[in-house]
Amino acid sequence: MEKKQVTVALVGNPNSGKTTIFNNLTGGRQHVGNYPGVTVEKKEGYRHFNDHDFVIVDLPGTYSLTAFSLEEVVTRNFIVNDKPDMVIDVLDTSNLERNLYLTVQLLELERPTILALNMIDVADASGLKIDDGKLSHSLGGIPVVRTNGVDNKGMETLLSTIPQSSDKQEKSKFALNYGEDIENAIQKLEPLLIPIYQKLQFPTRWLALKLLENDTNIINSVKELTNADSIMSVSNELRTELIQKLGEDVEIFIAGQRYQFVGKVYEQAVDNRSVNRVTISDKIDKVLTNRMFGLPIFFALMWLVFNLVFTLGKVPSDWIDTGFGLLGKYLGSIISDGPLKSLLVDGIVGGVGSVLVFIPSILLLFLAIAILEDTGYMARAAFIMDRVMSRFGLHGKSFIPLLLGFGCSATAMMGTRTLENPRDRIITMLVTPLMSCSAKLPVYTILIAAFFDEKIAGNVLFSIYFLGILLSLIMAKIFRSTFFEGQSEAFVMELPSYRIPTVKSVMIHMWERSKLYIKKAGTIILAASILMWFLTTYPKDIEYSKDYDMLVAQAEEAYTQQVKEEVLSELAIEDIGQNEKLAVLIDDLQKNEEAFAKETKELDEGTPEYSKLEQEKTEKNLQLESENLEIYSYGAKYVELTQNLADEKEKVDNEKSGENLEKSYAGQFGKAIEPAIRPLGFDWRVGISLVSGVTAKEVIVSTMGTIYSIGDGNENAHSMTKALQNDEHMNPLVAYSLMVFVLIYSPCLAALAVMRRETGSWKWPAVSMVYSTTLAWIVTFIVYQGGKLLGFGG
Ligand code: GDP
Ligand code: MG
Repeated sequence: MEKKQVTVALVGNPNSGKTTIFNNLTGGRQHVGNYPGVTVEKKEGYRHFNDHDFVIVDLPGTYSLTAFSLEEVVTRNFIVNDKPDMVIDVLDTSNLERNLYLTVQLLELERPTILALNMIDVADASGLKIDDGKLSHSLGGIPVVRTNGVDNKGMETLLSTIPQSSDKQEKSKFALNYGEDIENAIQKLEPLLIPIYQKLQFPTRWLALKLLENDTNIINSVKELTNADSIMSVSNELRTELIQKLGEDVEIFIAGQRYQFVGKVYEQAVDNRSVNRVTISDKIDKVLTNRMFGLPIFFALMWLVFNLVFTLGKVPSDWIDTGFGLLGKYLGSIISDGPLKSLLVDGIVGGVGSVLVFIPSILLLFLAIAILEDTGYMARAAFIMDRVMSRFGLHGKSFIPLLLGFGCSATAMMGTRTLENPRDRIITMLVTPLMSCSAKLPVYTILIAAFFDEKIAGNVLFSIYFLGILLSLIMAKIFRSTFFEGQSEAFVMELPSYRIPTVKSVMIHMWERSKLYIKKAGTIILAASILMWFLTTYPKDIEYSKDYDMLVAQAEEAYTQQVKEEVLSELAIEDIGQNEKLAVLIDDLQKNEEAFAKETKELDEGTPEYSKLEQEKTEKNLQLESENLEIYSYGAKYVELTQNLADEKEKVDNEKSGENLEKSYAGQFGKAIEPAIRPLGFDWRVGISLVSGVTAKEVIVSTMGTIYSIGDGNENAHSMTKALQNDEHMNPLVAYSLMVFVLIYSPCLAALAVMRRETGSWKWPAVSMVYSTTLAWIVTFIVYQGGKLLGFGG
């Protein structure tokens, strides 16, 4: 009897056309859900064909089946646990070699598999000649079907190939030979794994490989079994032995072997000698990847992107900024004073708001990148940059994540997925945070505004970015020649042909990257804001060095006295209300002052605009004077006294919150670490800001805002600038040193978490954190002490 229901899984690299084929095969009949326990989408569809009911599953796109990402784990677990009757490996044939890397790993899972050579139209157009027979033969004889998702070609062939092969339930007979050392280790390990096959279902040869590859996901599953200890001790022993013999990590060696094999298969099965040299893509490439014009065109495009991002992004950013300001004010007005108000307004709205302000720029940056990627230009950019990058031991494709690093290190690290070699990925992840991410920009902006002349501001900022790029290249070179000895993967020169991107795919790419940033604001930064608020506000019951309440009371008393002597008794009245004309005059004078204060908020004293506004105010006051000759001096006096009182109160208030902070938990902590950062010119307040910045670089600014006694934590650039200038510990040299430190030191939590997810262990995030903070200390020490020796101490 024939089996009636057949399950088919579609697997392949992202953008190879899985979803297109899935839709072709299933029509509208599908169901979207999630894989159990994770947020990866699971799409199932149905099709009746040749007396069979097919259940077709569209698996997430993936480049590999290591445990680097959720997609990879979901894919391999589905294939092994759900045992689909047939796996269809959808390949982008115009990029065959890269796509075969996944194929090799799929075959090792030992399920019946068919190759769908999709996008065959693109491959044909470029003149790629593929020998299906040789290809099939070198991969253990699996069926090969040519398809074109867009024109709906080859779909029926796919379906009719399925029942034949799956009825025979023919497992793939494919086994890649990894060389004597690895094969011996597999032979020792495999017999131990046979007893656990029933539990885990993974093929034993594959399991053995994964244990040697140190696949944490598999190791954890094995560890849950009863006789795991002996298995693990044997596999650890073999691993250590192998590392010694091979002189590198086993997983890196194994990946290398797979690449070599794929390279051979490609060479044998593909004839690309007759590749058409004159497609439209090639004509465009003659210009865009030209030896002379390639780099200048590339830099011009980048310049355009960055400018668009920052100029277009500024407008909506300002709206968001204003919106959060209003929200803070509104909350402040409806909640009575107390911890709740302070938490909501200073902690949450201030902290999260300061981060969400960057969203428009981030969206635009990712939009631009998505367009460059989808048109196919990014691959060219990588190719052009490869000549430069390879000198520093980086792969040309590292360039894309590094570029993304100017936006956000966490997303940039996800961008390293385009790198196929784990070694290249890790080096890139380690140096990516040296690209100054957009969250660090506000820190520079505020420090530069406070300590550097407007004329050199641009150069100062550029020097920081440049230092970051330089350090990343140097560090890449160092990593390559120490931990990661060996050549970087040769650049695979198969450039995809240019395409006009679809709006939908661009939007999806943009959104997938931006999502992470927004999530960060909602999670890590929210938590950090609350924590920093708590640490800088508590403990409450501290002993003040001065009686601040009394100082305020004294000031108020002196004020009442002065008003009485110098205004009221001179006019023989008891309060202002008794002289209607005076009350009106005072009201008018105060309105003038308020208007002036509001208009000049963003201006520096002495600038032409400022002088003009000051002139206007004086004229208005002269007008009032001429209308109220006999009482004008009293009115003016009253306004002046009232203003002085307000200033005095604010000064006492600032002093009090300053002392509050110094004695808060954060303050105590800052004092404790001060000795370590003294040689860099930093005091305890800078220390707190830097530590808080590990949660997210945006937090540095909001923490400095709170710390420099601006009170409400809203980083009003103007008042913050003044507070910094007034601080005796700060000067241009310290400010520059601080920028250097912020540029280099530990990546933020989000970036570290992504790194952990992408590498599968905490080892690399730990390395990253320690090396970058050490490097930051050393470089800053040189800058600060050197600067002092040269007499820039200020
Ligand atoms: P997935 O990420 O693997 O699900 O890929 P999609 O199905 O979303 O396809 C990615 C892009 O390739 C879409 O723009 C498709 O229209 C296009 N595409 C899919 N199959 C073919 C094909 O055979 N030839 C060509 N030229 N384009 C294709
Ligand atoms: Mg898809």
